[in-house]
Amino acid sequence: MRLSAWCVCCSVPGRIIIVPELPEVESLAADLRERAVGRVIDRADIAEFSVLKTYDPPLAALHGAELKDVARHGKFLDLITTPAAPAAPGRSLHLITHLARGGWLRWREDLPDQPPRPGKGPLAFRLRFSDGAGFDLTEAGTRKRLAVYLVSDPAAVPGIASLGPDPLSPEFTPEVLGRLLAGRRTQIKGVLRDQKLIAGIGNAYSDEVLHAARMSPFRLASSLTPADVAALHDVIVTTLHSAIERSAGLAASELKREKKAGLAVHGRTGEKCAVCGDVIREVSFADSALQYCATCQTGGKPLADRRLSRLLK
Ligand SMILES: [Zn+2]
Repeated sequence: MRLSAWCVCCSVPGRIIIVPELPEVESLAADLRERAVGRVIDRADIAEFSVLKTYDPPLAALHGAELKDVARHGKFLDLITTPAAPAAPGRSLHLITHLARGGWLRWREDLPDQPPRPGKGPLAFRLRFSDGAGFDLTEAGTRKRLAVYLVSDPAAVPGIASLGPDPLSPEFTPEVLGRLLAGRRTQIKGVLRDQKLIAGIGNAYSDEVLHAARMSPFRLASSLTPADVAALHDVIVTTLHSAIERSAGLAASELKREKKAGLAVHGRTGEKCAVCGDVIREVSFADSALQYCATCQTGGKPLADRRLSRLLK
């Protein structure tokens, strides 16, 4: 029996939305770097008023600026521009976006000259370069959380200023992970997803990491031995790197399919675990669900799912 596979974004059963996490944002950054660095910005427009979280400088300040590089901070994408007028004492501006749960970036070779009309469909934001190419930021679902910021310093974005270490950076060592977990009497699943502790891992990759580490999502962080921490560190780095490698060279439009295909347990409730053949189970919460394999991760004992037990009463 296939249990409920439901969308983490809008809770619609049978519909799974791929939420961008570190590997996807890293791949989007690489794709955008390849396509767009060196292009000059023609205009930036919002199509959904709530997405723009800053007002000074205005989006019009990007007009005439050149895209210099594309970076990533956790799950934030950072488009770094050179000042529009090099002779003037202009500032280098960062156009930063967080795609949230239902957001995505679509590259388009030929965008209309006119700005998009606000309030129509999933379009949230559009950036057009002077040659007519550019990208749309779209957001599916009803909860609009996609965010765009225009700042001169990325640290001015609250979610970036508070980010924990990036698991792909050399600073993220087993010792650093050990210090993050020590004394923390919270479940490891929540710790892995906490952006203030480790940057970039969300619901999907925390499920994947814990499955690969053969660790219960409910295990208390403080209970990990140094050997457990070293093994978990290795799995975090390997899982994220292999997801990035799988998506290397793929265009934004292909990344979602690749992510879904590469997941071993996340979003696969009711399917067979590829490692042991047991059924993949889920625990649901108010606005999300986790997936795991009992044989691989919890000694064969299913975790309590309050929603499921309520339904069975
Ligand atoms: Zn298994």
